[in-house]
Amino acid sequence: MKHKNIGFNSKLIHGGGFEDALGSATVPIYQTSTFKFKDADHGAACFAGESDGYIYTRIGNPTISALENQIAELENGFGAVGVSSGMAAVTTIYMALLNQGDHMVSSAAVYGPSRVVMEQHFSRFGVESTYVNTENIEEIKAAIKPNTKVIFIETPANPTMAITDLEAVAKLAHENKCLLVVDNTFCSPYLQQPLNLGADVVFHSMTKFINGHADIVGGIIIAKEEAYYKKLRTMMINMGCNMDPHQAYMVIRGLKTLGIRIDRSQENAMKVANFLEKHPKIEWIKYPGLKSHPQYDLCCKQMKGFGSMISFEVKGGVKAGKVLMDNVELAILAVSLGGVETLIQHPASMTHSKMEKASREAAGITDGLVRFSVGIEDVEDIIADLDQALAKI
Ligand SMILES: *Cc1c(COP(=O)(O)O)cnc(C)c1O
Repeated sequence: MKHKNIGFNSKLIHGGGFEDALGSATVPIYQTSTFKFKDADHGAACFAGESDGYIYTRIGNPTISALENQIAELENGFGAVGVSSGMAAVTTIYMALLNQGDHMVSSAAVYGPSRVVMEQHFSRFGVESTYVNTENIEEIKAAIKPNTKVIFIETPANPTMAITDLEAVAKLAHENKCLLVVDNTFCSPYLQQPLNLGADVVFHSMTKFINGHADIVGGIIIAKEEAYYKKLRTMMINMGCNMDPHQAYMVIRGLKTLGIRIDRSQENAMKVANFLEKHPKIEWIKYPGLKSHPQYDLCCKQMKGFGSMISFEVKGGVKAGKVLMDNVELAILAVSLGGVETLIQHPASMTHSKMEKASREAAGITDGLVRFSVGIEDVEDIIADLDQALAKI
């Protein structure tokens, strides 16, 4: 690879090694569903895997490959598989790595639909699952059964901001012949590289930080080893949850500024967190960059920065939280996260509303919890907006 020894931000611009016959400086959109074979033998060789020519866009496409190669490099994996959404990444992973009769252990505070699709749908096909507070390694240990095949971790967890020690869980997983899968959406490879900490498979909702502009939905799976990469790619192709070339092009464009976007948004988040922590109307706040975060030391060890996601509860619970959400003017009241714009939402009635209330409570997702995704606006404006909305309570 031409750019092997360049830094992370340089890889965001030049990584992946894309080149085409016309010398295009950026990756073009190959908006085609199918590709011409040179002759019948070439077509047969492509299908036999003896030629690396493209066949059909569900199977592979140069724009999508450029993105896959770039992200595989950023996460230090063998290869990456682009998929239509973050949830397509989750279901492809479950389908590829779990069989009937297998068991999975996962974080109680995992992204709502990652849990719903397992508990309500994969359970129909005989896949079992147990959800525990994975920040406590003893709880994971206790949940592992003889048929456990996958440990599925989200760290920081959504929306509790609980941190799981990836090196420790990777060791535990491998001692028990399990694979460690990590949802790295909240960090992006800029802040955390789970494969380097021992994970086997990592995935992202690229809808969030990687694309970063709230204008597409997309997902990607990165495998450390060739065998799992091939399994995952075959599953994506057969299930048909491929990316679209235009979608991949948008992500490649957004990805270039990942580093500077996160630098700015986490700098803003630190200031917003300090403001909220001192505010008399705030009951509690969880942000990995605050010394009050129960796992502050682990955050410092495992993550290269603290990110831009904050959870907090206003005094007065749900009712007061609603007043806050109804009165912000700069922040947008919307789900999703990791974009250039500041977003606010209420997990118990929005992103995590399909989860059982008891499961939500066990995971620490209280009814009053507000999730705040800090954008790259002027931080004075974000704080002034929160200040005026909190004054209305
Ligand atoms: C959004 C999100 C997903 C799902 O991604 P989609 O692109 O919305 O399908 C999965 N995990 C986390 C942590 C997320 O934030």
